[in-house]
Amino acid sequence: MTDFRETLATVDRQGNRRWVYPAIVWGYFFQRRTIVAILLLAFYLLMPWISIDGKQAILLDIAQRKFVFFGATFWATDTKFLMLLLGFMAFSLFFWTALFGRVWCGWACPETIFLEFLFRPIETLIEGNAAARRRLDAQPWNLQKITKKTLKIGVFALLSWGITSTALAYIVGREPLLHMMTRSPFENWTPFLFTLVVSGITFFQFGWFREQFCTIACPYARFQSVLLDPHSLLVGYDKTRGEPRGKLERGPEQHRGDCVDCGLCVRVCPTGIDIRNGLQLECIQCTACADACDSVMVKIGRPTGLVRYDNDAGLAGKKSPLLRPRVVIYAAILAVYLCIFSYALSTRELSEFQFIRPRGDTPFTILADGRISNHMHVHISNKSNVEESYSLDVDRSTGVEVITVGGALKIAPGQDMSFPVFFDFPQSLLHNGRLSVKASVTSDRGFHVEQAVSLLGPNE
Ligand code: SF4
Ligand code: SF4
Repeated sequence: MTDFRETLATVDRQGNRRWVYPAIVWGYFFQRRTIVAILLLAFYLLMPWISIDGKQAILLDIAQRKFVFFGATFWATDTKFLMLLLGFMAFSLFFWTALFGRVWCGWACPETIFLEFLFRPIETLIEGNAAARRRLDAQPWNLQKITKKTLKIGVFALLSWGITSTALAYIVGREPLLHMMTRSPFENWTPFLFTLVVSGITFFQFGWFREQFCTIACPYARFQSVLLDPHSLLVGYDKTRGEPRGKLERGPEQHRGDCVDCGLCVRVCPTGIDIRNGLQLECIQCTACADACDSVMVKIGRPTGLVRYDNDAGLAGKKSPLLRPRVVIYAAILAVYLCIFSYALSTRELSEFQFIRPRGDTPFTILADGRISNHMHVHISNKSNVEESYSLDVDRSTGVEVITVGGALKIAPGQDMSFPVFFDFPQSLLHNGRLSVKASVTSDRGFHVEQAVSLLGPNE
């Protein structure tokens, strides 16, 4: 009886970690995954160093609460875009999982990309292939082992620092990061500690914790079962074709399935499981077992695809519909999200303003000629990529005069500023000590918005 449901492949019965030494198989899927991984790694590492419209291509400036995406700057007041984006990403995950299972885990998750295409190949380069690594770990400490382990730790530490520094470039910006790197850590305690702690976590994750994160900690692995249906595409073992499994033997025709029980699919699995046991929580759908099994099938002259991308129905020899209710519903929700997002983006104002009464200031003053004056600040945000010149106005027929100090209200691209402004008006316009007027802000590039301003005066 199989007990794979009662134990973890990477933990023995005493609760000790069973280290996984997955072999690398250069097959059809691995080639394609390598191309995807290189593109994703290049994207992550290069984006902070690329400029669009004079700005860093992607910048998540949390301190300033400004987020730059490919030339467009989003401010804290643009929260609706963040909400729409998060909703879109969540439903995208549901949609792709319903269609292609855990394709994210095997092809795009940072955990897989960094481990399988950066840390593991370097480990292989230093310590050798899976069998050599196993032997090295088992042998007593000697000069060769100390040298290899020290070299690996050094390179892993350097990589972890590089990955973390790149993350920091997304948060603080590349110029401030380069500046900080040339200064003493004591001058920039917070980023220094961030780099130290996150580099340590990265080193721990990719140097030691590895597949345990997918098995024990990843929430996505937990709720994937409710996102999948029997028609979702998964890496699976064709039991009908493979069983009864058995070693390849010479002699008269054996009445056995195609699985020759070589165990290669298990030896290449980065989470240490046996795909022949069916869908398991630990499976990150990396396709390594499919490549491994195909290489075995080619060698023994049988058709490839004993382990393949298929769904439950397909593995049972049945046809499977591509369009199912949940796929159609997710696709419809995504389409609605896309429409709302596109509309919100196309109608987004690149300037914003608001009137603020300075804290602690008197609400109004009575001028020498008896008129009332309200002192306020107009706070204007220029979200565009060019300098804007703004002007302020009120409907002069109301008898209210607006006075700004220092001429044109000029604001550099991506900046916001406050300017003092005075609303002067005759006392006779007040009703119960209040007066409401429409003030407008206009820019020389076409921005024009009106806003009601509540003015105060003596209640006589
Ligand atoms: S690699 Fe293929 S043939 Fe070998 S044990 Fe796995 S499923 Fe069977
Ligand atoms: S069972 Fe296959 S697809 Fe799943 S994690 Fe292991 S090697 Fe990857």
